[in-house]
Amino acid sequence: MSETTIFTKIINGEVPCSKLYEDSNCIAFDDIAPQAPIHYLVIPKKQIISLKECSIDDKNLLGHLLFVGQKIAKDKKINSWRTVINTGEESGQTIFHLHIHFLAGKSMRWPPG
Ligand code: AMP
Repeated sequence: MSETTIFTKIINGEVPCSKLYEDSNCIAFDDIAPQAPIHYLVIPKKQIISLKECSIDDKNLLGHLLFVGQKIAKDKKINSWRTVINTGEESGQTIFHLHIHFLAGKSMRWPPG
């Protein structure tokens, strides 16, 4: 069992967020420290530490998270965006509850640092 993070508190409504979408499996909200003009996160309600800890049982959930993120982008009329999943400390993961970043609204460089 993973440790509770601030994202669990957001899911439980104990910490406020700028919510974009919610269903029984996931919630999406604006990132509190945006790295682009548009920056939101899609997270599963199930407590999963990172992509590394996903099992075969999470396969549909993973697809769902991406699809929800895509729907939000389309609703916002965004045509181009970057999707990021940091996995592990070295990648830059700071919150150990799986989340997908969606970033848009500016030109981005590749490769990332
Ligand atoms: P990562 O570095 O991939 O683990 O991303 C964690 C993200 O969560 C960062 O972009 C943070 O700005 C964001 N974050 C942390 N706390 C909150 C919060 N309370 N509400 C919204 N986003 C948050």
